[in-house]
Amino acid sequence: MIGCDCEVCTSIDKKDNRLRASILVQSSTTTIVIDTTPDFRYQMLREKVKKIDAVLFTHPHKDHIAGLDDIRAFNFFQQSSINIYANTLTQEALKREFAYVFAEKKYPGIPEIDLCTIDKKPFTVGDITIVPVLVWHLHMPVLAFRFADFTYITDANKIEEEEKKKITGSKIIVLNALREKKHISHFNLQEAIEMVQQLQVPEAYFIHLSHQMGKHKEVEKILPAGMHLAYDGLELMC
Ligand SMILES: [Zn+2]
Ligand SMILES: [Zn+2]
Repeated sequence: MIGCDCEVCTSIDKKDNRLRASILVQSSTTTIVIDTTPDFRYQMLREKVKKIDAVLFTHPHKDHIAGLDDIRAFNFFQQSSINIYANTLTQEALKREFAYVFAEKKYPGIPEIDLCTIDKKPFTVGDITIVPVLVWHLHMPVLAFRFADFTYITDANKIEEEEKKKITGSKIIVLNALREKKHISHFNLQEAIEMVQQLQVPEAYFIHLSHQMGKHKEVEKILPAGMHLAYDGLELMC
């Protein structure tokens, strides 16, 4: 956190240096990014990503969309527009916050995107099938995504029973857990642990961690078996 001197923000353990929540999902032919955070440009540079086939958005909060402008580099090298999958709520925000991208007279060099509307119906990108799962971020609907045995959920503090069924059977879950103290729109650590236990997913990684969560090493020690704090650069094979 900017300006903070706490033990997490000043830690020399790389696992305590966290950028905003985003993941890259890749098969042998297809690459998808979930959310373009304010750190999107640096995340793409760090991981040396050369091509993306689509961006999936979870919800319209700024920390999940702000980096969209940097999609331009992929337009340039791929010589094509990029498909953006988002629900209508997120699309409204994109049109408002990136008005120049949707302008009738476009300035040259701006991002070139094609909006694809998604809701709760499964869809495919290349050879990857995606099952959206609706979760709640206080009163805001957020899309979580299941890819085969892997489910990714960010920015949630409630999941309805019907939607939980879509997660059942996953082998790995990524779930937001903001901190130990309760929060109005995010699961805290205890709630996230209980949700994983209820969903009976054997392997879990917590994301969207605030510096108030404490140091990676310390929190790892107290987590139940199969549960971990995620860290930037973590790679999982499914
Ligand atoms: Zn701090
Ligand atoms: Zn967020």
